[in-house]
Amino acid sequence: MIDTDEFYRRSCELGFVKLEAVARNIVWTAHTDWGDLEITINLSKPEKDPRTIAEEAARKASGKVDYVDPATGAVRPCPLCVTEKDVERGYARRISLQGENWGLWYSPYVYYEEHCIAMSWEHRPMHIDRAAFECLFDIVGQLPQYFFGSNADLPLVGGSILAHDHFQGGKHVFPMQKADICEAFELRGFPEVEAGVVKWPMSVIRLSGEDRAKLVDAACAVLDVWRKHDEPSIGICAETDGVRHNTITPILMKDGNRYQLDLALRCNMTSPEHPWGLFHPHERYHHIKKENIGLIEVMGLAILPPRVQQVMEDQGLSREEVGRLFGEILECAGVFKWDEEGRSALQRFLAKL
Ligand SMILES: [Zn+2]
Repeated sequence: MIDTDEFYRRSCELGFVKLEAVARNIVWTAHTDWGDLEITINLSKPEKDPRTIAEEAARKASGKVDYVDPATGAVRPCPLCVTEKDVERGYARRISLQGENWGLWYSPYVYYEEHCIAMSWEHRPMHIDRAAFECLFDIVGQLPQYFFGSNADLPLVGGSILAHDHFQGGKHVFPMQKADICEAFELRGFPEVEAGVVKWPMSVIRLSGEDRAKLVDAACAVLDVWRKHDEPSIGICAETDGVRHNTITPILMKDGNRYQLDLALRCNMTSPEHPWGLFHPHERYHHIKKENIGLIEVMGLAILPPRVQQVMEDQGLSREEVGRLFGEILECAGVFKWDEEGRSALQRFLAKL
């Protein structure tokens, strides 16, 4: 087990974690039908240093498209390309996942307790597959005090950085992880794995048990079936013109000897009416949330843009109402809705497992 207390303390002391900036965020919990959802209005994004802007302009003019880390000023090929220099400076460390070199650091603008990021040393695309599940179990095995999860590996339903393989973790138990199972089911071939549907606005299958190898196999089985699953009546198509649309946002935590692996089913189909995605915040919610529903939001923590403060004032929205709207936004991202049509479609999917 890796001791993270000292590493986190040092990352804060070095100013890599911007605690002062984060303290400006507006944070509350809202009681909803889906449990207590967590809301953050993100006011911690820094004003850009004029020097950074000048440097960026110069590099753009020279044709280079490197990324300048707003926290450290370090120049990287992409925001997640970690280097030996980062380790020397003390805010990154090496870890080993599946026998490979990975980096670990804390997110400069922590959205929750000890929000950290593990990134492959090599710059390569994200992928949700057996290797990703194995890595998740490796990292939670080494850092059982933290959950770890991954964004989905497709545009529209993934995070903002698909080009670099990474996971996010931290010392926080999210609303989704606390949500109950509303329906247990038998996963064929895996009697040692408990499987169930989570009572959650999005469509989440929970696998739990103590046997890591069986859980990885079970997760692969769910992913394989979901990747090929079609449900045209509700807009789910596994593939169009050879392009895949179905994937998973996985989240793993460990409690004693027991693992809890949540698999949020995602589909990035679009339509002329919903060019941003059928399972994306609908237009009537865009004043609150327009961006992709990524890993952190899937789990029930909304990261909302600064303008929401003004929207709340203009429309007289209470904090509870924003929480309720966030629940509805998550329902938009759910592939199997909580109406009769959605529930019977879910049963057809479960029957294949
Ligand atoms: Zn990179």
